[in-house]
Amino acid sequence: MSTSSSAFTEPDRPTDLQIRFLTIGGSYVDVTGPGHSSDKHRWDCHGCKDTSRYPEENHLWDIREKANTHASLCRAIPLT
Ligand SMILES: [Zn+2]
Repeated sequence: MSTSSSAFTEPDRPTDLQIRFLTIGGSYVDVTGPGHSSDKHRWDCHGCKDTSRYPEENHLWDIREKANTHASLCRAIPLT
């Protein structure tokens, strides 16, 4: 067992990571993509494995809001 005082360890940060939200379950929602002007951003939840959809990829302003909303609702804990 780990003796770390932190309950969970933050996963490695992908190179295209734009934002990482902490969920209320203690996991993370990652927003990844090329940056501001692109409409190729997506979000992925480390806790419950849910992902962005309708659309799967969009501008950062849209994906950011949806990812933050998911983070505020997701109670799945990290299993690693
Ligand atoms: Zn989730």
